[in-house]
Amino acid sequence: MKKLLITAPVVAILASLPYLGMADYYLSYLYIIFFWIVLATSWGILSGYTGYWSFGHAAFFGIGVYTTATLTTQLSWPFVATIPALLAAVVAVLIGLVVFRSGALRGEFFALLTLSVTFVVAAIVSNTALDSGTGVFLSGIEIPMIGATASGSLYMFGFIAALVALATSYFIFHSKFGQGLLAIHDDEDVAEVKGVPTFRYKLISFAVSSALAGAMGAIHAVYVGYVTVGETFAVTVPLYVVLMSILGGARHWAGPAIGAVIITVMQSAIVSGAHAEFGRAGVALALIVVILVLPSGIVPSLVRRFADRRSGAGAPMGFAQVVTQFAPSGQASSGPVLLKCEDVTKSFGGIRALSGVTLEVRRGEILALVGPNGSGKSTLINMISGHYSMTSGKITLEGEEISGRSPHLIAQQGVARTYQIPRLFDNLTVLENVRLCAKFGSADGMGAAAVDAATAEALAFTGLADKADVLPEALNLHDRKFVEFARALAAKPRLLLLDEVLCGLNPAEVDHAVEMIKRIKSGGTTIIFVEHLMRAVVALADRVAVLDQGKVLALGHPGETMRDPAVVSVYLGGSHAA
Ligand code: ADP
Ligand code: MG
Repeated sequence: MKKLLITAPVVAILASLPYLGMADYYLSYLYIIFFWIVLATSWGILSGYTGYWSFGHAAFFGIGVYTTATLTTQLSWPFVATIPALLAAVVAVLIGLVVFRSGALRGEFFALLTLSVTFVVAAIVSNTALDSGTGVFLSGIEIPMIGATASGSLYMFGFIAALVALATSYFIFHSKFGQGLLAIHDDEDVAEVKGVPTFRYKLISFAVSSALAGAMGAIHAVYVGYVTVGETFAVTVPLYVVLMSILGGARHWAGPAIGAVIITVMQSAIVSGAHAEFGRAGVALALIVVILVLPSGIVPSLVRRFADRRSGAGAPMGFAQVVTQFAPSGQASSGPVLLKCEDVTKSFGGIRALSGVTLEVRRGEILALVGPNGSGKSTLINMISGHYSMTSGKITLEGEEISGRSPHLIAQQGVARTYQIPRLFDNLTVLENVRLCAKFGSADGMGAAAVDAATAEALAFTGLADKADVLPEALNLHDRKFVEFARALAAKPRLLLLDEVLCGLNPAEVDHAVEMIKRIKSGGTTIIFVEHLMRAVVALADRVAVLDQGKVLALGHPGETMRDPAVVSVYLGGSHAA
C-alpha cells in the first residue's frame, strides 16, 4: 500500500508530461532513459537473476527493430500490432532449448554464444530483403496518438514499455519463479536437487527477457525513423546494459533501471559539456570505482544497509513447541518398502564408485550407511537424489521408478538430501535458503502459510532461528551443516538423506543432533544417514549397510553387523574383501 502511494503519483506525473506541453527535447531525453531502462531491466531478468550472462541482447532488440521495420513498411501492418515481440521470444526459446539442456554451458560459453547469435542475426538481416544493406526508412509510419503530439506519443510508448518491464521484473523478483532463478544463479545443480525446475525456468526467463528487448526494438525503430544493421546490432547495446545492470545491481529488480538512469544522465551531461573526451574517461573511472566499492551494485548495497532486520518467518519458535510438531505418528520402523535400489552402478570415467548396489529401505526406519572414505556412500546419495545420472541399475520409491527422472521431480516426490560439504545459496540469507527448499521441495506445493511455518520450524529445530537473516558466508562450518539440515527438513520429506551431518561436531552437539534425528524419525520420516561416528550409528540406526569399494559388504542390525569379521577388517584397514 505504501509502495502504491509513492508509485501512483510518479506514474501519473510522468504520464501527463506530454499533455502539459513539455518540449520535445525533454520528452526525447526521457524517452532515451526509458529505452535503457527497458533494455537493462530485460537483461537483468535473464542474466542478473540466473547468472547466465548474455552479450546477445542486441540480437533480440534487433529482431524487434527489424520485425517492425519489415512488417510496417513491406506488409503495411499497423505499428502497434508489431510490438508483441513474439519472434524475439521464439528465437530465445530455440537457443535455450539447445544450450540450457546442460547446466555446464554457462559462463563464458553462454556469453560468447549469445554474442555470436547477434552476428548471425545481423548477417541474415543485412543480406536479405529485410534490409538489403541500405537500411530501412520508417518515417512514414503512423503511430496512434496517445501523447498529444507525435513525439509525445513515442514518449508514451517508451514510458509504457518501461512500466511493463519494471512491473515484470518486480513481480518475477517477488515470485516463487524469481526465487528459483536466483537459486540457479548461486548453484544450479543444488537448485535442481531442491526441486527447482531449472530447465523450464531458464527458458521462461530467456523468453521474457528477449520479448521485452524485442518490444523495445519495435518502438525504437519508429523513434529513430531510419534503421541500419550497423547501428542496431552494434556492441553498444550489450555493453551498456551489462554496465548499467552491474552498476545498479543486477540481482535486484530495480538495479538495472537505476543503473540505466545514472549512466544515461551522466552520458548526456558529458556530451553536452565542453570536454567530452575527458568527461567520458571520468565516467568510466567513476564506474570502476563504484563497482570496486559496491561489487553487488548500488541498489542491493543500499537495501542491505537499510534492511529491516526483522525475520520474515514470524516469531522464532521455541524448541518445546517444535518438539510437539515432530510428534510421533506411531509408524512402525519395519513398515513396507519405501526405497529400493537394484544393482545401482556408477562409473566416473575409469573409476567405479558403485558397482551393483542392491538394498531396500523400509518406511519409517533409519538406515545407516557406513564404510571407509571413497567407498561410494556419497555417490549412492547422489544417485538416489538424482544429482548424478546412474550408469546402470534402477531405483524405485514406493514402487515408482525415480531413477532417470529430473532431480527436481525426485525432490517433489518427497526426497530431500544434505550435502557432505555444504552447498548453500551464497546470495540468499539462511531464511531464504530454507524457505526456497520448503517452497520447491514438496510435491503438492505448500501454501505460503505452510511454507513459512515449515521454514520457521526447520530453523528453530536446528537452532538457527537467530541467524535467519545472515548470509551463509557469515556462518561457521557447524552452522552451515545445520542450514543444509534445515533445508532438507523444510521440504517435509518422506525420505531424508543425510550425508555426514554430524562430522565435526563436539560431543555435546552430537548428542543434541542425535536427539534431533530421533525426533524426525518419530515424526514418520524415513532416513538414510551416512556416518563415521559409531556411537551415533549405534544410537540411531535400525539397520546398517556397510559399503566397501562400491559394493554392499554387509547389511543388518547395528550390533551384529559391526562385529562381522569382514567389516572389522575393512575398518581396521585389513585386506579388503573383494
Ligand atoms: P564416500 O562418500 O564413501 O567417501 P564417494 O561416494 O564420495 O565416497 O566416492 C566414491 C568414489 O567415487 C571415490 O573414488 C571418488 O573419488 C569417486 N568420485 C566421487 N564423485 C566423483 C566425481 N564427481 N568425479 C569423479 N570421481 C568421483
Ligand atoms: Mg562422502
